[in-house]
Amino acid sequence: VVIGEHRHTQVHVDLQAIKHNIDEEMTRKDPLTELWAVVKANGYGHGIVPVAQAAKQAGATGFCVAILDEALALRRAGLTEPILVLGIVEPEYAALIAEQHISVAVGSQAWLDDAAAVLTANKVTAPLAVHLALDTGMGRIGFQTPADLSVAVQTLRQPNSPFDFEGIFTHFATADQADDTYFMHQIHQWQALIAVVDDLPRYVHVSNSATSLWHQACNGNLIRFGVALYGLNPSGTELTAPYHLQPALSLTAALTFVKPLAKGQSVSYGATYTAQQDEWVGTVPIGYADGYERRLQGFHVLIDGQFCEIVGRICMDQLMVRLPKQLPVGTKVTLVGTDGDQTISLQDVADYCGTIHYEIACGLATRVPRVYT
Ligand code: PLP
Repeated sequence: VVIGEHRHTQVHVDLQAIKHNIDEEMTRKDPLTELWAVVKANGYGHGIVPVAQAAKQAGATGFCVAILDEALALRRAGLTEPILVLGIVEPEYAALIAEQHISVAVGSQAWLDDAAAVLTANKVTAPLAVHLALDTGMGRIGFQTPADLSVAVQTLRQPNSPFDFEGIFTHFATADQADDTYFMHQIHQWQALIAVVDDLPRYVHVSNSATSLWHQACNGNLIRFGVALYGLNPSGTELTAPYHLQPALSLTAALTFVKPLAKGQSVSYGATYTAQQDEWVGTVPIGYADGYERRLQGFHVLIDGQFCEIVGRICMDQLMVRLPKQLPVGTKVTLVGTDGDQTISLQDVADYCGTIHYEIACGLATRVPRVYT
């Protein structure tokens, strides 16, 4: 991996904003409910280890990740808190998971059988911590019927079981929407499923950010707090958060080239933009290889406190903007964030691309250095 340390294009992450967002949730939630920070996908593009450390300082008592390697990265960074892998890890890694005290989501009896065989073959003595995933309507992973769930619970609770039945959880598909019809359907499925578990495990959890923000009464004793900790509204613009979410991420660069463009001259591949009058054009060292999507042609950046249109096709590593006047090389360009009185949010970028801010944040390439304040 090559990181662009010698280019003035940077992702800035405000760790105080992350702490602010977690503080707000810590104050609002039931004191007996834990908050685990979801730091998968390189902390939604913000950087897994610095975000995890900031979240811990703000009161997070555990972490959620998507894949085993992310959990191992947190362990290597010296974090000893519980870590739950939300996706399915191949059972062949059962010994490594148990030895590293990592907890995993499990959604089938076959997984338990395969993992038990691996643990026995490797003579592993540490118990493997399991959170049973219940599929109440997300349709992704998990037990769907009370009968299958009962068998799994019996397996976990057998004498000499190599497992620690640590948690049980589900995930909502529509907690970020105003219409709660499907959400209520999932709640009913959840209640019907957990009714077959006599003695619930230590962690019973259903809440992502949206559930904790808008269906707080459903929170079990653990919140899997993801996108909101980065200051992003999980619903986009549909619902208003109960407290101010402070965005942590901004993206800046600096002009590398400035030139006059005569009326009739064109810019970039395909010559899709032709100047209608004499104008000034600046070149910005960022492109789609940095995760600044090609679809953003025609969108704008902030320079000198003003919106400047992106003209012509976005290249792999560079893009061009129309300037309000001649500006010096090195002038700051804000692609996400605030300059003067104006702001471009990740939501604005996502809206223009026809996607969600989650995708834009995770898509920022590792080539762009993360700078923490
Ligand atoms: N829980 C599960 C199972 C998830 O897959 C995710 C992320 O997609 C989260 C929690 C966190 O969701 P959010 O970032 O919307 O808070």
